[in-house]
Amino acid sequence: MGREALLEGFMDRVVELAPDQPEFQQAVAHVARDVITIEKAHAGYARAKVLERLAEPDRIIGFRVTWLDDENEVQVNRGWRVQYCDAIGPYKGGLRFHPSVNQSVLKFLGFEQTFKNALTGLPLGGGEGGSDFDPSSHSEAEIMRFCQAFMRELAPYIGPDRDIPAGDINVGTREIGWLFAAYKAHAREFAGALTGKGQSFGGSAMRVEATGYGLIYFVEAMLAEQSADLQGARVAISGKGNVATHAAEKALARGARVVTLSDTSGTLLAEDGMTQDLIDWVRARKAAGEDIASPPGQTRFVDGAVPWEHEVDIALPCATQNELDAEMAQRLVDGSTKIVAEGANMPLTDGAREVIEQAAMLHAPGKASNAGGVAVSGLEMSQNSHRRFDRVAEVDADLKQIMCDIHKRVADEGRDGNRIDYSRGANIAGFRKAADAISAMGAI
Ligand code: GLU
Repeated sequence: MGREALLEGFMDRVVELAPDQPEFQQAVAHVARDVITIEKAHAGYARAKVLERLAEPDRIIGFRVTWLDDENEVQVNRGWRVQYCDAIGPYKGGLRFHPSVNQSVLKFLGFEQTFKNALTGLPLGGGEGGSDFDPSSHSEAEIMRFCQAFMRELAPYIGPDRDIPAGDINVGTREIGWLFAAYKAHAREFAGALTGKGQSFGGSAMRVEATGYGLIYFVEAMLAEQSADLQGARVAISGKGNVATHAAEKALARGARVVTLSDTSGTLLAEDGMTQDLIDWVRARKAAGEDIASPPGQTRFVDGAVPWEHEVDIALPCATQNELDAEMAQRLVDGSTKIVAEGANMPLTDGAREVIEQAAMLHAPGKASNAGGVAVSGLEMSQNSHRRFDRVAEVDADLKQIMCDIHKRVADEGRDGNRIDYSRGANIAGFRKAADAISAMGAI
């Protein structure tokens, strides 16, 4: 049977099992396209039905989260933990609090996380969890009570050798502190069952910076392939959160000109490049729950604009899934952008991917280029089990090495003449690692 026929049969089954889950179907289809013939050609993988097994999470834990708001009224939300795959190590992945969270989004994130974690070379399985809770419309005290109620439900299912959640959208160091306290109260022991903790209670140096900095280290490895670097490069970044601002900070430190950051209402545009002060301002506004519509100095905020309509060398989508569509991708192609590297998970729509593939633009998928965050989470887990604290210089050196190693793994699998298909390379390298582990364990 040819690849297209195999793929069609396989995806029919995925859609049958997850009919109303477009994000999940999208993520699985991308990977299946690149690995289905590899699976069929490998007797061990085929016998173990690796791809079929990877197209479904090990389990989904779903619960109701009941909490009291500031008016003493009962509020009810939904929470889930998708324990996707623990073939390589304990389940590991973020928690996302956002009204868009549902089972489709969490399953796609858990699926991506499984491949991402495999690519880091660390012994980490994949998972993701979260809630449809919207922190932007709640007070600090309400968010804390929500975190406590959420962990009351989740705590029995996690642990340092079972499942280790961390942050994701709207779950940062502050929320992890509240979640950790609630976990500790439940478990009656001080265990590293969460990462992204504050550094005074077992958190790693540089966990906060790791995803954004790691993204830039990955881009530097891509540029080094072509004997180029970031000096003077024009970079467009979307988003204003942890990943976006730390990517901006590191790009700036490496001599790039960061032209944009953004949020859902518009784009912050600094034609001559942002300063560190401006990046700090964005971070402070975000932390205070305020918008970025009135920046200081020469910078403009363009209402309703997206960051992709300017002449840039490098585009870094760092906001959320499916944020960049075919029309925006075409603008990047027309504007002679050379690299798209994903800080967010699956930020390109299927249409955008097609445009970028056709233009043969270099495209780093999030499972490779944004793996720095979970990699430092892995380092935090090791530090916790060794009861030690590594200094910034050590963690930074490890992070750089891990990003270079991921680049090499992905490039080795994705090399096609003198071009590298990073997306294909990441899918194949991640799949082989997971498939080796799954098939080695037999039928369980
Ligand atoms: N949510 C982050 C990611 O997408 C971090 C996960 C973690 O540190 O466990 O990789």
